[in-house]
Amino acid sequence: MELGLHVDTSRGYDAAIAHAQRLGCTAMQFFSGNPKTYRVDPIDAPALERFRDARLAAGIARSVIHTSYLINLASDDPKIAKNSLRLVRNDVAVAGAGGVDFVNTHLGSYGKRDRDEGFAAVVLLLEQALDNIEPGVSLVLENSAGAGALCGGTLEELGKFVRAVGHPQLGVCLDTAHSWAAGYPIDSREGVERFVALAGEQIGLDRVKMFHFNDTQVPLGGNKDRHWHIGEGLIGFAGFRALAAHDELRDKTAILETPGEDADDARNMATIRMIFEGALT
Ligand SMILES: [Zn+2]
Ligand SMILES: [Zn+2]
Repeated sequence: MELGLHVDTSRGYDAAIAHAQRLGCTAMQFFSGNPKTYRVDPIDAPALERFRDARLAAGIARSVIHTSYLINLASDDPKIAKNSLRLVRNDVAVAGAGGVDFVNTHLGSYGKRDRDEGFAAVVLLLEQALDNIEPGVSLVLENSAGAGALCGGTLEELGKFVRAVGHPQLGVCLDTAHSWAAGYPIDSREGVERFVALAGEQIGLDRVKMFHFNDTQVPLGGNKDRHWHIGEGLIGFAGFRALAAHDELRDKTAILETPGEDADDARNMATIRMIFEGALT
């Protein structure tokens, strides 16, 4: 797998690349703008091209834009749905201009609306989001922790989106902390084998483009989105070792979204790299 972490680009692209490179990343994820506003900045194509070249020169083979936290494609408020679509389309355009492989987005919450009606509305928005997507970019839907009206909490529902939209550049991102919180026991080899087999059946492993590797202390099926340091939560070394060792996941990308500061990033990257090297038992 290509391994990396979510990096802060607020100090500039070069600083973000240097940080990722120092930690041995071959992948990185970032926000294209401020993740807490609906405002979008004009696309600076030359800067994005320089960013792409600098990433590749630093050995960072895969890159991901995480869309804004404000996005709620499942909302029954037309204004929120429209603004969410605008943000996703902007990130898809930024990815095209900057040679970014994946645009990872949350789907949001159905709120009080009927789930089937909400599902159909999300399908229409995803079709529009994929309208002008450049070759080489995939839009990937991240699984949610599955609480109440949240959209995309099961492998089955994500698979239904992939089939209903039917676009070759639509994929899925499986966040390990969200999967655990949604009730998938991925803390053992058997659990991971069952989970990956189910993802293959429900979604198709070719559509599972990437993972978010986060440990968590939320109880299994607890439906809470809380990330924790790799190996220090309930998924633990056994869960990540099984994911690392899985033959069918070798060409995937995995991004850490673990909490804390630079020192925590360094420790978490070192831990996951050791797990991949088989150095931990
Ligand atoms: Zn996310
Ligand atoms: Zn995530």
